[in-house]
Amino acid sequence: MPAKKKPVKKEKEKEKEKTLESKLAYNAKFSWEGLSKDKEKKVYALCEEYMHFLSEAKTEREAVVFLKDMLEKAGALPIEKMKAARPGALFYTMNRKKNIAVFKLGKRPLSEGLNLIAAHVDAPRLDLKQNPLYEDGETKLALLRTHYYGGIKKYQWANIPLAIHGCVSLANGKHIDIKIGEAEDDPVFTITDLLPHLAHKKQEARKLSEGLRGEELQILVGSRPMDEKKAKKKVKLWVLDYLNKKYGMVEEDFISSEFELVPADKARDVGFDRALIGAYGQDDRICSFTAIKAIMDMPTPERAALVLLFDKEETGSDGPTGVKSRFLMNSVGCAMSLYDKNYRDSELRVALERSYALSADVNAGINPLFKDVHEEQNAAKLGYGIIVTKFTGSGGKYSSNDANAEFVGKVRGILNKNKVPWQAAELGKVDEGGGGTVAKFLAEHNMDVLDCGPGLISMHSPFEISSKIDVFHCVEAYTAFMCEMK
Ligand code: MN
Ligand code: MN
Repeated sequence: MPAKKKPVKKEKEKEKEKTLESKLAYNAKFSWEGLSKDKEKKVYALCEEYMHFLSEAKTEREAVVFLKDMLEKAGALPIEKMKAARPGALFYTMNRKKNIAVFKLGKRPLSEGLNLIAAHVDAPRLDLKQNPLYEDGETKLALLRTHYYGGIKKYQWANIPLAIHGCVSLANGKHIDIKIGEAEDDPVFTITDLLPHLAHKKQEARKLSEGLRGEELQILVGSRPMDEKKAKKKVKLWVLDYLNKKYGMVEEDFISSEFELVPADKARDVGFDRALIGAYGQDDRICSFTAIKAIMDMPTPERAALVLLFDKEETGSDGPTGVKSRFLMNSVGCAMSLYDKNYRDSELRVALERSYALSADVNAGINPLFKDVHEEQNAAKLGYGIIVTKFTGSGGKYSSNDANAEFVGKVRGILNKNKVPWQAAELGKVDEGGGGTVAKFLAEHNMDVLDCGPGLISMHSPFEISSKIDVFHCVEAYTAFMCEMK
């Protein structure tokens, strides 16, 4: 005899059974709990894709090009190929291979405003100095001098295999992409630290922030001499000769290169249950990837949707590829011209004013080893869904975009309606430290902006930790926002 089916409870009955406390008190939910098998499969499958992206794309250029290729496979066109505006059209425009703006046109014209999501594709790393290569006299070791990019804890970058990703523009105008240290049989590079036996007296007495100093972030790249009798620096010459044979480079070409030292190796599952991801560069490629996924796969929205990926967020958003440049205005202008070639500048500015934005960036998840930097009631936790961060900044909300209550209310309503798990948090205790995002720069266009992204543990380290379920909920949240914000 078949088992009796449990009658499905109606929403109203469920509502009646809730306790007063569950009706009134706010509690973020641990979203792994009660996860269906079907959804679990989707979470792990999406994260396979995400981890492949993290392993392949370790610089802003690589991330933009990777995501552009992914978009093209989904049918996106470069804006130059667009003849006219059409609801549902998916197209993109790039800036110096370091920014991309991806549009999905809505049923209503662009002049009524966009729902946009901005994330960044740059990540803390070590850049080479302009004239980086030298050979140390007696040790005969060749090293590259670096200048770090973004906020790092310098000691974390020693004793790990590093890869070189980047490019060089030669004197003859040739531009070459470079990636060494990722293939199985590639060599890697490293920063050497002092053995403990000889560190006790001096190095260990330094402050942690000076465990390794800026000028000590030097990369070991060679140790054998070139067979060249007349040469003075034979080990250095070996390195130069290698670079010349492989890329046609001479030493002066370093000046027009962007060599970025990043952790070698791939993104990995972390934990017996494989529920976490460990990888370099998740701040903020986690939001970049999930926002692109969302716009690629979403249905035709009412209002136009836009995903913008920026560079230089980690150093203050300056320069032509940072969010302070005109790239946002120019690309929205290009899209406006698909409706009307003679649109007026004021119409563009009004469209931006009528826009709503999520600044999609990560927040700090509580690290069980260092809980005391947070005030737990207002701190983010991995696995509790996307984090709504009303304000960032530091020391009395200084230098922050503090989102309007009305706008936060609307976003919250959309997340609730679509059953997307979310939590509200701020970055650390009051006066403990702080940080900013691109939110305040987007707000300069007089649009509503809210910070909204997942939590990370070990942020800005060579191996940042995220929760797979949060990756999934980012896609859900960004999709819901772009589809429903009005
Ligand atoms: Mn970030
Ligand atoms: Mn960051």
